Amino acid sequence: MADSGSKVKKTPFVSAAIEKLRGVGMRITSPRIAILETLDQSDLPLNAYALQEAVTLTGKKVDVVSVYRTLKVLRELDLVHYVQSSDGYLACRLEGEHGSASEMIVCDTCGNVMELDIDPCAMTDLSEQLSSLGFKASRITIEVEGVCKSCDGQ
Ligand SMILES: [Zn+2]
Ligand SMILES: [Zn+2]
Repeated sequence: MADSGSKVKKTPFVSAAIEKLRGVGMRITSPRIAILETLDQSDLPLNAYALQEAVTLTGKKVDVVSVYRTLKVLRELDLVHYVQSSDGYLACRLEGEHGSASEMIVCDTCGNVMELDIDPCAMTDLSEQLSSLGFKASRITIEVEGVCKSCDGQ
């Protein structure tokens, strides 16, 4: 852990992501750290343009193509989830592995996304059906859209 001179805040997401990115041979550049920190601080899914803007605000330069590249790797490593209904990426908040399955609830009103931690047993029926069809699932995403508690009744 000799990150001498770097100002990397060691939140679990950022430090885990840095470690995993290094593991696949990615260089840890300061724009990349800014991307991770921005994702870490956001409760809303962010797209590449929003991330680029946030990185630019910190005084660093990054182009959208390299933001996309970083997001692609982060997604392959299951560090971020792609939220289809918001067309954005959200840092995984669940510590520990939940592999390539993600279950999220998305509020139609405020856009907040929360991850559910569904017992793998609950997914057994789905897995059985998939394997009986001979289908090899690479990623299972469940998105439940609706109205969150704080928006309900407003
Ligand atoms: Zn997650
Ligand atoms: Zn809401």
